[in-house]
Amino acid sequence: MNRVITIRKSVPASIAEKIPVMIDNAIAWLQKKYPSVDFSTTEYIFSASYNRSRYFRNNIECGKYLAPNTCISTRERLFLYDMKSLNVAKKATRGLKIGNEVQMMCALVHELTHHAQHELNISRGELETTRNELEYLQEFHPEIHKKCIKQKRKTYLDKLLEKHLGNN
Ligand SMILES: [Zn+2]
Repeated sequence: MNRVITIRKSVPASIAEKIPVMIDNAIAWLQKKYPSVDFSTTEYIFSASYNRSRYFRNNIECGKYLAPNTCISTRERLFLYDMKSLNVAKKATRGLKIGNEVQMMCALVHELTHHAQHELNISRGELETTRNELEYLQEFHPEIHKKCIKQKRKTYLDKLLEKHLGNN
């Protein structure tokens, strides 16, 4: 498949070389959720100078960036939307350091979910995008997922049991 991928000079080579496989993996994961969506039409731009990732597509009249565009920040901090119903932890909304690769996978899952929303003409909200990021983390990086979710406060009994039975 001929994918149009632009990688800015700001992206270190060690990260750049992994990008095609990362895109494949993100698409494979989303294709299971959205089997009817064609993910082959979007073009990609990766940059270390983007603060945030985004997805956009323009009208024909604009004449520029006619293909859907997925712009991915290669930074190492994850910024999740503060979705109350998903119990997102405060620290994950303020920029949680999780490393470039995992952050980029989350960004791809998020922005390509917007692509699916456009293609299926369903809500463009951030609930589904955030839920997918969390599901992806839960499946592949459970230790990071745990940090992104508000933890239930430990009761006195929990602490007592932990002390006597040992952690885990
Ligand atoms: Zn979004």
